[in-house]
Amino acid sequence: MRVQSAITALAVLVTSVAAEERVSYEGYKVYRIDTHDESEQIHKLIDGLHAVEVSCGESDHFDLAVAPEDVEAFQALGFDAFLLSEDLSVDLAEEGPVESFYESDANFTLEARQQSLPALSWFNLYRPYVEHATFFSQLQAAFPSNSRIFNVGNSYQGRSIYGIHLWGPGGQGSRPAVYFHGTVHAREWISAPVVEYLTWHLIDGYRNNDPLVRSFFDKYDFYIVPFVNPDGFVYTQSTDRLWRKNRQPRSGSSCVGTDGNRNWNFQWSTPGGASTSPCSETYRGQAAGDTPEIRALTTFTNSLSTRGIKLFIDWHSYGQYILLPYGYNCQARAPNHNAQMSVAAGFSNAIRAVSGTRFTYGPSCSTLYATTGSSPDYMGGAMGAEYSWTVELRPGPGGGSSGFVLPASQIVVSGREQWEGIKYVLSTI
Ligand SMILES: [Zn+2]
Repeated sequence: MRVQSAITALAVLVTSVAAEERVSYEGYKVYRIDTHDESEQIHKLIDGLHAVEVSCGESDHFDLAVAPEDVEAFQALGFDAFLLSEDLSVDLAEEGPVESFYESDANFTLEARQQSLPALSWFNLYRPYVEHATFFSQLQAAFPSNSRIFNVGNSYQGRSIYGIHLWGPGGQGSRPAVYFHGTVHAREWISAPVVEYLTWHLIDGYRNNDPLVRSFFDKYDFYIVPFVNPDGFVYTQSTDRLWRKNRQPRSGSSCVGTDGNRNWNFQWSTPGGASTSPCSETYRGQAAGDTPEIRALTTFTNSLSTRGIKLFIDWHSYGQYILLPYGYNCQARAPNHNAQMSVAAGFSNAIRAVSGTRFTYGPSCSTLYATTGSSPDYMGGAMGAEYSWTVELRPGPGGGSSGFVLPASQIVVSGREQWEGIKYVLSTI
């Protein structure tokens, strides 16, 4: 009996381990498919294939990574498609390893480092999820009188959705908010390090009495949430590098995950900018705000309304875009549209001045594609945020197969571009 239950337990263990085995993309071929307005039909036809969509969304085309065993079946469908990558796993390898930053430093304790910011070598590689919290603790410890770590709530799997609040001489919560979100889409790894780079430089500038940075703290409180979707991010590090959504199952479907950037309660049910299918990468959920992550963030966001939101940015990759309101309708514009366009133009110029990288700017829907229930639409449309943007980071729109995978050697320059851009924005708005 005892032996039997041990075997049963072992079988359960083996099954669950097998189910969580790391996904290999060896031999996956990536295609760009022109939809010719027949997207729905195309998606029905590819439904049974072992394949994963590797676009951020969809306009007149989308990118699909097809498993080796189904390449022939895919080609037989005869779509208007061209090959972007012979082997996705080769592109993924260019990212470099995920390496510990803190473990290698035997002398590291927060107390020992209380006076110092983390070394900038943090940004040389991608880091394990757990160390990001340590990084923020270290930032906070180095800026003890002007910052606090806050917890918005918990993810579906119970992880803390944390952030850091920075304030200046006016005291905590005395100024309008500058509010940043990162990593709602789990596979967009460059998002968190860029947000961290900005946070590091805000604190460093304040500590060193940089007059420009000090002037930002005279005007604003900063609220920075690096991981809107921690469960999804952990899953990209443990199991599937190309996972996008959260990890919430839905009854009646074997597919897991809701797209947090289609789940906010603003124009959530407007058709055309999200999917009603739990298997889609842009699944919007069964009701607005029915994911634990977005529910918690909505409550937190509403608490910022007292002083108002001056600037909100949701950091994504990829494509090099600065996207303004709105996503839900290609004709809709913010009341201060001209001002937003003008600041976005200056933002783009400041980014380009660093190393020539071009960021396209314009209203979200008409510049890229329709999105409903997105966070910038919610912030602008429901919360009255004066500037409410999505920034799609490197690489550029040709990314295709490796778009979500930015070599670690580009983390620092991506951070520098956004820091120069943000300094322009905060000086101008
Ligand atoms: Zn995204």
